[in-house]
Amino acid sequence: MIFKGKAALVTGSTSGIGLAIARELAAGGAHIVLNGFGDAGQIAEIRRQIAEMHGVTVLYDGADMSRPDAIEAMMARAIGELGGIDLLVNNAGIQHVAPVDEFPLDKWDAILAINLSAAFHTTRLALPAMKQRGFGRIVNVASAHALVASPYKSAYVAAKHGIAGLTKTVALEVAEAGITVNALCPGYVLTPLVSKQIPDTAKARGISEEAVVRDVLLAAQPTKKFVTVEQVAAFTSFLCSEAAASITGAVLPIEGGWTAH
Ligand code: NAD
Repeated sequence: MIFKGKAALVTGSTSGIGLAIARELAAGGAHIVLNGFGDAGQIAEIRRQIAEMHGVTVLYDGADMSRPDAIEAMMARAIGELGGIDLLVNNAGIQHVAPVDEFPLDKWDAILAINLSAAFHTTRLALPAMKQRGFGRIVNVASAHALVASPYKSAYVAAKHGIAGLTKTVALEVAEAGITVNALCPGYVLTPLVSKQIPDTAKARGISEEAVVRDVLLAAQPTKKFVTVEQVAAFTSFLCSEAAASITGAVLPIEGGWTAH
């Protein structure tokens, strides 16, 4: 139980990568704050399952990560009920695929708010208690798109490159306080975020959906395999462990060799 007694907040943890990370940290003994949208009954069932399986407290807060006031309320609640956040995983994210000169303004603003600014807000609000305890782990779920670009993803690539910069900056500011800050850069993981963009990418490129998977998504990954949510969760758990105390300010690929091209 490497995280026994610790509290973890995983944003966007009702689905995909975030849910796998929440399960993995709970398996290590951490109390969990789940966040994200979804069906209330399904979320209640996820909470019950994780709490029963691992004997940890599982809270849920549906804060909309595009709203600083909602993030502040969630952080105040988490700190009030769990005494502080030891492991902060900024994972909530959305995607929209369109040529830059047709990119909807509301999508640009939402992607920057959820994929980038939300991590600024959770980080600034979590740090005081981490500093007091002399321990903290911040893992930002970025993307291979924090390292390289793809056409038609201007907002996403800008936000993910931005979070790589935020990661390095905060890591330097807190390096002596026992707090590490790192960014993970997954390649394609078959979650709802990816399956939803396949039709739009097909339209933008004028090719079939099968061709998008073969010639666009997996073409980027030399392994020709999707990364799995379990692999990203295991990597996150390692970064939160004591063994990873010397890894900070790092922007770490987990993308089947994509950015080695
Ligand atoms: P997903 O769509 O399965 O999950 C996204 C989660 O974020 C959900 O829980 C959703 O409810 C939540 N969310 C969305 N908007 C929100 C908001 N305004 N407020 C609060 N929660 C919100 O997607 P995923 O693939 O698991 O993506 C998780 C993270 O991983 C994202 O940051 C994404 O950019 C990143 N990522 C994904 C891939 C991939 O291939 N799937 C690759 C690299 C990086």
